[in-house]
Amino acid sequence: MQSLLDEIAAEALADPNPGSVASYIPELAGIDPHQFGIAVALANGEVYSAGHAEVPFSIQSVSKVFALALALGRVGDQIWRRVGREPSGLSFDSILLLEREDGIPRNPFINAGALVATDSYLAGSQPREALGELLRFIRAAADDERIHINERVAASEIETGHRNFSLAHYLASYGNLQASVEKVLGTYCHQCAVEMTCRQLALAGRFLVDAPRMPGLVSVERRRRINALMMTCGHYDGSGDFAFRVGMPGKSGVGGGILVISPSRAAIAVWSPGLNRYGNSKLGTEAMERFAHRTGWSVFGVP
Ligand code: GLN
Repeated sequence: MQSLLDEIAAEALADPNPGSVASYIPELAGIDPHQFGIAVALANGEVYSAGHAEVPFSIQSVSKVFALALALGRVGDQIWRRVGREPSGLSFDSILLLEREDGIPRNPFINAGALVATDSYLAGSQPREALGELLRFIRAAADDERIHINERVAASEIETGHRNFSLAHYLASYGNLQASVEKVLGTYCHQCAVEMTCRQLALAGRFLVDAPRMPGLVSVERRRRINALMMTCGHYDGSGDFAFRVGMPGKSGVGGGILVISPSRAAIAVWSPGLNRYGNSKLGTEAMERFAHRTGWSVFGVP
């Protein structure tokens, strides 16, 4: 495993085309795209990593996995009355289907659906308490108390988050938000601004691995369902492409991180800030394709 990761990291770091970083969140715009890290947390407790696996990055939409788990813990299956379970085939911040589908977002991993998940785990508490709970969940999953929120990234996104505010207002107009738009957006942007290294993210992802000794934060059934949603919706309009190339459930973020689950084997985190046309990490996706090919871990084939 170590030599495989070293090889993958060396190849990624030598790539002259890392894609371009997200510029719509000013605080993320200045990040050097020539960075790559990967970490694998195996079901037996071993952790392997290579490249810039100890550099913290903004997890952005990878946080939607933790938010969904927390929301399910808070309101249970009730959440499925307010958000669907189908891929949208549209970009992560699209508003298009909201009007056609009466304010019910297609799935919890696009922004509109994630805002509903955030609203669900906010449920009656103050943003500070809700974020405290989210951090507790992530820290427990990773077994690492150092994981924190980057306030500057959160503020930067709140300042420029016109699309997300529009989505939230639209949801509110259909009665699909309980807390105020400001509270939901403030909480959501802080949630997206959680920072982790690849190593921490791989460890945090273990709660989605179906094996003994993994952090038992959600039931087996929920784990399976979250994995299913990651496979079908975790990469927005690039979800089909990721399933085709990698064949494992994954959730990407515009900070360049991807959390990938090999359902009974491991949690894998890759990070490289340059993005492809879907807003998913370019080198991260390519590296995962190589990793899946070499390990035979696609869920669609027997190694
Ligand atoms: N915070 C980002 C946003 O809401 C997350 C998007 C992403 O990572 N794709 O726009």
